[in-house]
Amino acid sequence: MAAKIIDGKAISAAVKEQVRAEIERDKIKAGLAVVIVGDDPASRVYVNNKKKACELCGIQSFEYALPAETEQNQLLELIDTLNADKNVNGILVQLPLPDHFDEKAVIERISPLKDVDAFHESNVGKIMIGNYAFLPCTPAGCMELIHSTGVEVAGKECVVIGRSNIVGKPMAMLLLHENGTVTVCHSKTKNLAEVCRRADILVAAVGRPNFVTADMVKDGAVVIDVGINRLENGKLCGDVKFDEVSEKAAYITPVPGGVGPMTIAMLMKNTLTAARIQNS
Ligand code: NDP
Repeated sequence: MAAKIIDGKAISAAVKEQVRAEIERDKIKAGLAVVIVGDDPASRVYVNNKKKACELCGIQSFEYALPAETEQNQLLELIDTLNADKNVNGILVQLPLPDHFDEKAVIERISPLKDVDAFHESNVGKIMIGNYAFLPCTPAGCMELIHSTGVEVAGKECVVIGRSNIVGKPMAMLLLHENGTVTVCHSKTKNLAEVCRRADILVAAVGRPNFVTADMVKDGAVVIDVGINRLENGKLCGDVKFDEVSEKAAYITPVPGGVGPMTIAMLMKNTLTAARIQNS
């Protein structure tokens, strides 16, 4: 049986429309500052997409494109200025930064109230204890996609492949908050295929094209593919071998058109939340 495709484009459009409607209804003034350092082409595309989404939602966007040679102190000074700027409710520094930056110090400089990526230590801690204003955009987007299937997380075997601070770990935490039984896999995991085959809900955040094959997937599973990998032919491809896994899963996200658009939609939602908190 072929899997149902989870349409991240349509679901993200609905989330953005909801944000737009709330901003219009409640006459909210919301602003997002996006800082990009250097000229990484993938980062440029992400930043442009974020700007477009802001326009659509009625959020004012402020872009700061800094040269790759920018020094750490200059970036920290800019963040201080944005932290103090009343027109800016959310601050996003596009990662990765060039090698000479201390990313952790940069993230920690952003005011936790404006940290719409939810990467700041204090926001990460709040997510751990389940008392948060913002959720990190990509895992939050994955949860929306899982919810859209109607499959309940509670009591399900959930396997997350990947343990990064921005995707794998918070993803595991959100599944746990919804009472999933969660296993987190990584490069040292033994018998990975066997562990994955237990999953009713399988989330792949590895960064390796076509890594998850059909023999790693349980019949009828929900498969969420976070991976964005660019192949030599220039095409985008996920971490999941879509053709064969979609013959086995019940629900699957495509790449592109799955998790990617959701990340941006959740960023819009977080910016609205930040504006509400700061204006209240
Ligand atoms: P990282 O490189 O930070 O983490 C990758 C994880 O995969 C690590 O925990 C690593 O294990 C694990 N891993 C690597 N190789 C294996 C293996 N052979 N077996 C099991 N686990 C393995 O990546 P990110 O979490 O930042 O991103 C993951 C993917 O998601 C990338 O393709 C990225 O582009 C994409 N992404 C997509 C987003 C979206 O909006 N759709 C947003 C963010 C990321 P270990 O810790 O042991 O090294």
